[in-house]
Amino acid sequence: MRDLEPASGLLHSIDPATGETVGSLPRTPTDAIPRLVFQAREAQRGWGALSHGQRAEVLRPAAARLKAEARRLGELASREMGKPLPEAVGEANYCADGFAAELDEIVAALADIVREDARTQSTLRHAPLGVCAAITPWNFPLLMPQQSVLPALVAGNTVLLKPSEETTLVAVEYTRILNEFLPAGVLTPVVGDGAQGRALVLADVDLIVFTGSRETGKRIMADAAPSLKRVILELGGKDPLVVLDDADLEAAAAFAVRNSFRNAGQVCVSTERIYVARSVREEFLRKMADNTAALRQGHPREQGTTVGPMVNARQKAKVVAQIDAAVSAGATLIAGGEPRDGNFVAPTILSDVDHAMEIMREETFGPVACVQAFDSDDAAVRLANDTPFGLGAAVFGRDLARAASVAERIHAGMVGINQGCGGADGCPWVGVKESGYGFHSGPEGHRQFAQVRVISRAR
Ligand code: NAD
Repeated sequence: MRDLEPASGLLHSIDPATGETVGSLPRTPTDAIPRLVFQAREAQRGWGALSHGQRAEVLRPAAARLKAEARRLGELASREMGKPLPEAVGEANYCADGFAAELDEIVAALADIVREDARTQSTLRHAPLGVCAAITPWNFPLLMPQQSVLPALVAGNTVLLKPSEETTLVAVEYTRILNEFLPAGVLTPVVGDGAQGRALVLADVDLIVFTGSRETGKRIMADAAPSLKRVILELGGKDPLVVLDDADLEAAAAFAVRNSFRNAGQVCVSTERIYVARSVREEFLRKMADNTAALRQGHPREQGTTVGPMVNARQKAKVVAQIDAAVSAGATLIAGGEPRDGNFVAPTILSDVDHAMEIMREETFGPVACVQAFDSDDAAVRLANDTPFGLGAAVFGRDLARAASVAERIHAGMVGINQGCGGADGCPWVGVKESGYGFHSGPEGHRQFAQVRVISRAR
């Protein structure tokens, strides 16, 4: 969590569980950003002259350093944004353990492709775009920077990373580790909030890789439009879970609770809307309530805590307001809902919700599971698609052909059948509708960080 102090230009990182200051850093003055971008452009000439493989080799030793520092990075992330310590350390380890394979996948994805016909042989090259602005959120404070920065760097771009104001310290530590190996000016952290983010978008950059809310994504797209800057926007979601009447209710309820309350619901692919067949609704709700009772909310560094606080008071107020409005409009509280001190919101289950309620339309980003009954598979599909979002979705049902038919008709970038929405290794992370514009990860995602060029000659 952050607290800005414009007079001194310091950005304070505040522990959302305790209110203590974790640390402070000077904000990057917005008027210094064009100069930093210029320096990145100068550095790009040398960096861009290397091959994809050479750039990957420069970065490769950083994996061992990240691994050695995973515990410290995880602790810092947990203190800055309130994620339970094992999850935060797990995220740091995930980044370190996957680092080398990610480099290899990017290098392979960006290799030349030869196409030929009777007369012409063409080579498709994946060339650098130039200078990349990477702007990231706080909910996965290490993974989001890594997913943006690595493909951009290996593609030959230089990068200015503007992490969330809530988790700046850990992101700056991440850049410090990579900068032990990178030439000067190739990766530059920018410290601040939306003002610094906007200054970066308006500066002379060639690619903007943004992960964050739909609202900010729209602003960035508008700011990028006058000079047609390339944008990759990974935005918010309102993921549905459809529980068919033949579903394994034990598994569906366990998934619903895990995926609604993980990271205190502050996950872009959190299950935020649950549609359950009316005939199994009561049993499903009972199982959800049992699973929820087993969660332990508390201090993120206390052993056994599974649900921490919201990232800040603003996020808590938003979530509580959505719950209160839904209850006033007729929703039934099955679990949670009681007031909690500080930035905590109890894991909450609501039933008897409908799409007239804001909580079923806007992203909540909190530990809330909303359950609505349906009477036919067609109705479930209609409800799941009644949203401007389209990031992830899940369908639970034993008849796989029927579950697959429902899954195919849900308009989301990633749909899981009897599991979460994330694909196998090598799959992109992709949203449709207002959840995304461009995407990252997997070979298809990595190529979006490069400029495709076609060099042809007669055969
Ligand atoms: P946010 O949009 O408030 O902020 C994201 C980043 O944008 C921050 O670094 C912020 O300082 C910066 N920013 C704010 N205004 C800006 C502007 N005008 N120009 C440039 N930069 C600006 O989002 P958040 O609260 O940090 O993160 C939560 C959101 O991120 C949720 O909507 C969540 O669903 C989404 N998210 C999406 C994915 C995905 O993969 N699709 C992953 C994680 C989070």
